[in-house]
Amino acid sequence: MLYDDFYVKSLIQTVEDWPKEGISFRDITPIFSDPKGMRMVVDAYIHRYIDSDITHIACIDARGFLIAAVLAYELQKPLILVRKKGKLPGKTISQKYALEYGEAELEIQQGSVKEGDHVLLFDDLIATGGTLFAAIKLLTQQGADIKEVAAIIDLPDLGGSQKLRDSNVPVYSLCAFD
Ligand code: AMP
Repeated sequence: MLYDDFYVKSLIQTVEDWPKEGISFRDITPIFSDPKGMRMVVDAYIHRYIDSDITHIACIDARGFLIAAVLAYELQKPLILVRKKGKLPGKTISQKYALEYGEAELEIQQGSVKEGDHVLLFDDLIATGGTLFAAIKLLTQQGADIKEVAAIIDLPDLGGSQKLRDSNVPVYSLCAFD
């Protein structure tokens, strides 16, 4: 289904002062409950990546999982979960990072990617980029190469997508909010 920016943006709800005062939270859950919106979003990524040489799709806890899982199924690629601390069994490596609101820590399972893997890294939204930089560190520490970072929403005013591009990480987002 052809991507319609106006339609997808009309589904995204802005919740002011949540989870903290001063944050305009962009809620994408209405996309998941709208089959047309979900299909538009997933199809946009399929169209972009169907002929690419990515070998793996990595995605960030938790909203990133929902689109990336469908994409991995459709593109028949292994799906790597980058999770919040304490959720993954076995040997893990972790990375702390600062959020737009607070601090957090991400983990991946050791050996989930290796040298020579070309990873598409997916999250729902790019704000300061702290989350994606932490995930990139975890994946590149294991030898993987980040082919591209993809998100539904970019918040360019918070500078994350520019910082990623400045670090030579290609960034693709479907829509942006000021
Ligand atoms: P950042 O690390 O600052 O780029 O923040 C990105 C992560 O935090 C994503 O996983 C988002 O789910 C979440 N996030 C940050 N800011 C917002 C926002 N304004 N609205 C919705 N989610 C956000």
